[in-house]
Amino acid sequence: GSTIGIIGGGQLGRMLSVAASRLGFRSHIYEPGANPPAGHVADQVTTATYEDESALRAFGKSVDVITYEFENIPTAALDLLQDLAPIHPGREALRISQDRLTEKSFLQELGLQTAPFADITDAASLYAALQRIGTPSILKTRRFGYDGKGQARIMSPDDAAQALADMQGAPAILEGFVDFSHEVSVIAARSPDGAVAAFDPGENVHSEGILRTTTVPARLTAGQRTDAVLLAAKIANALNYVGVLGVELFVTDAGLIVNEIAPRVHNSGHWTQNGCAVDQFEQHIRAITGWPLGDGRRYADIVMENLIGDDMDRVPDLARTPDCAVHLYGKAETEPGRKMGHVNHIKRS
Ligand code: ATP
Ligand code: MG
Ligand code: MG
Repeated sequence: GSTIGIIGGGQLGRMLSVAASRLGFRSHIYEPGANPPAGHVADQVTTATYEDESALRAFGKSVDVITYEFENIPTAALDLLQDLAPIHPGREALRISQDRLTEKSFLQELGLQTAPFADITDAASLYAALQRIGTPSILKTRRFGYDGKGQARIMSPDDAAQALADMQGAPAILEGFVDFSHEVSVIAARSPDGAVAAFDPGENVHSEGILRTTTVPARLTAGQRTDAVLLAAKIANALNYVGVLGVELFVTDAGLIVNEIAPRVHNSGHWTQNGCAVDQFEQHIRAITGWPLGDGRRYADIVMENLIGDDMDRVPDLARTPDCAVHLYGKAETEPGRKMGHVNHIKRS
């Protein structure tokens, strides 16, 4: 069988590896950190930095296709790898999603709605942007942010100086605060022949910038549900995308506003593991290996709950709870806010 190379050995890499294995593929994880969660389930693991050219070359030669669990892979590493095996999703999807400014500009050019935004390079550009966008607004680093890290809220112009200091000199973007009623996301897949399939949109609840729960079905009208799926397909087609893609949306009276896109399997798609014949991880493996896209129709109502921090104390109880599927990542709790696992509560009607 062929071998799938996965860059990044966290829980997403781990669950991709399991899905690959179930379809008869081998997997090879590339991860700089020691003892990665995916390391216990993959067939092969390379522990090396993204600057280690010989390790990258050996990895690239050992696999038939390369994919990834996170979007912040250094460009030089991708330049080297792309000559050794196809990379899916492709470079364009990575380029766009690595930088919030490029991403929001791309979405606007596609005719999709985003929060008002401005490029921030210094105090002068921030004060000019605040004149136009107003408060409340959010200053975010253009790159490397996740789980709400690298963000500072500006409730009034008085907060501007501190927010700028919080960016520590990194290029940033100011976003107007979107007055949304709730957040949803669409997990879509596109295959090399251009077929697109989308899972039912999920409704997401965040706290402190971290996803806590995803509920399906989401509170959406039939029209909003169609809009959500069509805009995800529009993004996937524009990028000539291959693989699974997550699109985060704000629901407002003025329609759906795109927050960000993730060129990978997505935390808000974990419900599919217990709600569909083919989950997002298998769908991704199918797309990047040229299998037909699978049946992602939802057959249950689900609440997916992330297990973070003290939530882990509930695992013995959750393990005894009917209709509760427990998924643990085998991680050590090295820092607060770390995602340790998730559960899917299955609602039977
Ligand atoms: P992720 O872990 O999803 O990649 P991230 O660090 O990239 O998170 P965002 O998705 O940009 O961060 O923001 C995290 C959350 O903060 C959003 O899901 C939303 O709840 C809130 N948020 C972000 N931007 C805005 C905005 N412009 N208006 C209102 N709320 C926002
Ligand atoms: Mg993000
Ligand atoms: Mg987000």
